Amino acid sequence: MNIEQQIQRAARLVGQARTIVAMTGAGISTPSGIPDFRSADSGLWDNVDPLSVASIHAFRQNPEGFYKWIHPLARLLAEAEPNPAHYALANLEAQAKLTAVITQNIDNLHRHAGSQTVYELHGHVREVTCTRCYRVEEATDLFQRFVETGEVPRCRCGGVFKPNAILFGEQLPMNEFVSARLAVEAADLMIIIGSSLEVAPASDLPEIALDNGVPVIIINQHSTFLDSRADLVIRGNVAEILPQVVDLIAAPQG
Ligand SMILES: [Zn+2]
Repeated sequence: MNIEQQIQRAARLVGQARTIVAMTGAGISTPSGIPDFRSADSGLWDNVDPLSVASIHAFRQNPEGFYKWIHPLARLLAEAEPNPAHYALANLEAQAKLTAVITQNIDNLHRHAGSQTVYELHGHVREVTCTRCYRVEEATDLFQRFVETGEVPRCRCGGVFKPNAILFGEQLPMNEFVSARLAVEAADLMIIIGSSLEVAPASDLPEIALDNGVPVIIINQHSTFLDSRADLVIRGNVAEILPQVVDLIAAPQG
């Protein structure tokens, strides 16, 4: 199949489905200018051991080191806008075809694009929590100030604020994961978008769909361990491919 045929086949599967679940990873946000920060070629890990800055242990030991490392990424997060792939998913939800977006991303771009039901397996950066008094605060102004000044965000008690995104060594938000799992179990089509499926337990969710006999579409730049089991694999830029799929189902089928 060439790419046009793959897109047509995806549109047929999406057109026939009624309860689609999408799962997204870093690849849906790289076209918005956010690097895949778990990947070795993102530049964020040059000369840095991930566990020495981005683990919860390192954060507690040396929050200044964490915030220094995250500063270039925070600027990109603050400036990023959703791209056509984010909007295509919001559009499918508005058509009542898509029930949920499960995401490994912390960048808030799905909600920004208008998606309503979003399960954020790795947390988010809309809020911060004080590591001393556990006060939770809305993050927008704090992050803006951090992007401008580079100063570590602190609570009025003097404690350091930690973004509500999951660091290495932290528990996933269990309620998000349970909701995501229920959405997958109720789905009649699962679309994986821009995820390399390398990070457990997010990588387990498509296997649940496959074990239930639910078709799975994978749209990603690179191969994944589930490509051989997926019903359809499309390699390429998700910001170009996904909107074409959604446009096709909106058009009369020939
Ligand atoms: Zn505090």
